[in-house]
Amino acid sequence: MVDKEKISIFVAYKILRVNLNYLNLTYLSLIIMVQDSMKTRVVGVDVGYEATTYAVVDVRGKILSKDSFQSATIKSINDYITILCDRITEMIDKNGGYEQIRSIGISTPCGNYLSGNIESSGKLAWKGQIPLAAMMRDRLGLAVVVANDAHARALGEFTYGCAHGMKDFLFITLGHGFGSCLFSNGRPHLGSEGFAGEVGHTFLLPAGRECDCGGWGCLESYCATDGIVKTAHELMESSDKPSMMRKCSNLTPKKITEFCDKGDEMAIEVYRRTGFILGLGLANYASVTDPEAIIITGGIANAGHWLIDPMNDSFEEHIFHNIKNQVKIVRSALKDDERNVLGASAVAWKVKEYSLFK
Ligand SMILES: [Zn+2]
Repeated sequence: MVDKEKISIFVAYKILRVNLNYLNLTYLSLIIMVQDSMKTRVVGVDVGYEATTYAVVDVRGKILSKDSFQSATIKSINDYITILCDRITEMIDKNGGYEQIRSIGISTPCGNYLSGNIESSGKLAWKGQIPLAAMMRDRLGLAVVVANDAHARALGEFTYGCAHGMKDFLFITLGHGFGSCLFSNGRPHLGSEGFAGEVGHTFLLPAGRECDCGGWGCLESYCATDGIVKTAHELMESSDKPSMMRKCSNLTPKKITEFCDKGDEMAIEVYRRTGFILGLGLANYASVTDPEAIIITGGIANAGHWLIDPMNDSFEEHIFHNIKNQVKIVRSALKDDERNVLGASAVAWKVKEYSLFK
């Protein structure tokens, strides 16, 4: 009996120790989880060519607060960062305080995730190497990550939009520039220096138009805003045919689309040529990478079927035969005014948890 009692006490003690250990571990894990779960919000910042938009976003992708300011005229990067940090701090204070904020994700043209810098943007006001992540981190005391705007938006589509569940796709954004991101095996493909996926700066036409990147004949110089307007002027100068475009003093892709809707043949020809070149460039890309889909966003995508139909025809004409009619080309389903900050917030969430960029 004595031995049995000793054994029983010993077993009970061991069970108690195991449970205590388990409880201790569980408790520690819980503390960590609670501490982590308290930080249920991030700040997403989208640096655009004209304006900067920033928002507090929760873990489900709900935008709790959003604001923007004109930033193209702020020539000093120090002035810009002071204004941006003051605004972010004010927004954080109104949305639960710093203890709720886990990190800040910044989406910017020429942003480099690996260096945290803006790397020699041709169109932003600040030239050269801008150590944006380090400067913001010093001011705000929070983890700050920087990503190329197209990479961030692609991650936004993957996290919240129409690319959810896709492992391999190309994301392009057509506006003042031609942004693109190659999303491969469930993560943005960065390349060795962080510049992978610049479809817009692949050369299509030898000795073609001069591009902002310093090259000649790039896809961007035909399919982004300036390129489309240039095509319109070339068409007007090459003939005497009537067109509503001739009376327009400030021609834009949006205006050209409006003239297409009114049946203007020359305006329709602008998008026919743009679509042909775009489809050709995307077919080259798709033949190399065999993506599930190509997702198109940006203001120029609003040209709708005037651009998309000739682009699709050219795409299927030039793509490698084994994947003909296999690659979906779709428009983004995210709201225009939310897409960019959601992309920036997706970078803030994913970078540590899942190391998508590593
Ligand atoms: Zn270029």
